[in-house]
Amino acid sequence: MMALTDSFGRIHDNLRVSVTDRCNIRCFYCMPETDVRFVRRSEILDFEEIERFVRIAAGLGVTKVRITGGEPLVRRDLPVLVRRLAAVPGIADLALTTNGVLLAEMAAALYDAGLRRINVHLDTLDRARFREITRRDDLGRVLAGLEECRRLGYAKIKLNAVAVKDLVEPDIVPLARFGRENGFEVRYIEFMPLDAQGLWQRGKVLLADEILAMLASGIAPLEAVPDPDPRAPAAEYVFADGIGRVGFIASVSRPFCLNCNRLRLTADGKLRYCLFAIEEDDVKSLMRTGAPDAEIADSIRRNVAAKWEGHEINSSKFVAPPRPMYAIGG
Ligand code: SAM
Ligand code: SF4
Repeated sequence: MMALTDSFGRIHDNLRVSVTDRCNIRCFYCMPETDVRFVRRSEILDFEEIERFVRIAAGLGVTKVRITGGEPLVRRDLPVLVRRLAAVPGIADLALTTNGVLLAEMAAALYDAGLRRINVHLDTLDRARFREITRRDDLGRVLAGLEECRRLGYAKIKLNAVAVKDLVEPDIVPLARFGRENGFEVRYIEFMPLDAQGLWQRGKVLLADEILAMLASGIAPLEAVPDPDPRAPAAEYVFADGIGRVGFIASVSRPFCLNCNRLRLTADGKLRYCLFAIEEDDVKSLMRTGAPDAEIADSIRRNVAAKWEGHEINSSKFVAPPRPMYAIGG
């Protein structure tokens, strides 16, 4: 089997699959508040198409799949898809990223279907700020979902917190404390220029180093963890008192493109080699016009071969992609 290697020698074994662009909340750094344009249902890949794509990708060396969206739990019968993807030969690691609102109801069915790894998006433990960020009043449901995941014994539960300056500073330390108390790793994600309303500015990013300083003075000093998987995007730290760890996805202040191993399949069947890609390959059309597996595999190889060196957020050349986060799959 030929690995999916790009022209910079990076091997791609990690696929993010978006199963919907719809969502039940409206985080301001992702979606507009009203008049969200969703893809027509007929344009969304069905489970057969997703499973087929994952099988073909696994045949090219993809071993890790993360289901995302939009909000994946609003996709009907998601546990059925989880069971099918968990059974694809070669897929060793299946994970899910969710906003957690529907988790209390669905965590058991997902676990039964074979899911063990889950990332729950949680920026704040403050009900008013949760409402301000997500334009919905669902903090209680997310916390109930987390509790249910813990009860069921999900392996490593991680919390994704988007780091927006002049907004979430009061949440940084409480979230890390909450993580320490419950065995969740908090991952702070620098705000990226992928919001639907064009609100992003460099000055609105709360940087990893600023967060590190807050945690060190508010809780305990941190020590960098030597990276067991240098291709994972998060820089990991443990608290020096031995309780808990945190991670940073510092796409803006510490870009990790040189180690990128990821591909993305959008809910409407477009293949993207980068969150910030402008070009994409239309694998849905290939599948829906009867293309054989070999042709789809060629399309994946071509997509990887065309991959750029890295995003240009830090350069004046940067152009935000036409798709906001919810339409790509974070
Ligand atoms: N709805 C699920 C959720 O919120 O986790 C899955 C999809 S969401 C697009 C995936 C992740 O993207 C979220 O966990 C959130 O942390 C992150 N995200 C969304 N918009 C972002 C932005 N503009 N910058 C950085 N991270 C963002
Ligand atoms: Fe929905 Fe996730 Fe986007 Fe928030 S970040 S609006 S939960 S898709």
